[in-house]
Amino acid sequence: MTRIAIVGAAGRMGRTLIEAVAQSKEAQLTAVIERSGSAFIGMDAGTLIGQDLLGVQLTDQLASVTDRFDVLIDFTVPEVTLKNLAVCAQMGKKMVIGTTGFNAEQNQQITAMAQRTALVYAPNMSVGVNLCFKLAEIAAQILGETADIEIIEAHHRHKIDAPSGTALELGRRVAKVLDRDLATCAVYGREGRTGAREQKTIGFETIRAGDIVGDHTVMFACEGERVEITHKASSRMNFARGAVRAAHWLADKRLGSFNMMDVLGL
Ligand code: NAD
Repeated sequence: MTRIAIVGAAGRMGRTLIEAVAQSKEAQLTAVIERSGSAFIGMDAGTLIGQDLLGVQLTDQLASVTDRFDVLIDFTVPEVTLKNLAVCAQMGKKMVIGTTGFNAEQNQQITAMAQRTALVYAPNMSVGVNLCFKLAEIAAQILGETADIEIIEAHHRHKIDAPSGTALELGRRVAKVLDRDLATCAVYGREGRTGAREQKTIGFETIRAGDIVGDHTVMFACEGERVEITHKASSRMNFARGAVRAAHWLADKRLGSFNMMDVLGL
């Protein structure tokens, strides 16, 4: 049994993660953490998701529960995740990072911390999305030089970063296959007199609306035909199950930064 702690436990993903761990045969929920001042501190994790008591109460002190878990699953915000990672690295605890929206410097900090502990860091933990990463790489190999490539994503109105971490990861993977640098070839949204499309660019379009869980399309548009690789998430449970699978997979790893492709053996 892998002993799991969840931070951001009262959030959209946090609550789904509590349910996913409770359903898992390989994992046990042993700690739940929320921000100081949260109205849920002291509440049982089961009560939080409207189910039977789970015997684990929400705390705002990660450092006080580090002896209770093996892997911390973190779906919060970048600054909080980095602080938690420092605690985990110091205490020899592993981490699954689902948070998105890190900048380049913060990404470097995560890579550096992976020399002190083992972590899985993935902007999207769903099996289907990771399959789409692979399909997009194959499409880029076959069509990439002649196609116009556009990445379109849609999420719920509460999402605070754009484009999504998944859209950026799709872009990075396609750009790498084509030997392009996403930092210089990406175009984010278009407005006004843009001029004709430059062929080697990769375009990103973002939709924020309603309760959309997460849609992503990579479009390869050529003369006379186009290929679209699309993933649509209809529930957060697929991300949560992926995160729990990643936590269990980490159990025998000591050091290093891994992603979901490693976890899934893709
Ligand atoms: P949310 O706002 O519903 O939840 C975040 C939670 O973190 C909140 O409950 C908040 O109180 C808590 N939090 C904030 N500061 C904290 C602190 N100092 N200590 C403890 N808890 C703290 O957001 P969400 O929709 O659950 O998404 C969270 C993150 O996960 C986002 O970055 C989102 O993009 C990402 N996400 C990733 C995947 C994936 O598969 N990797 C899937 C869905 C969402």
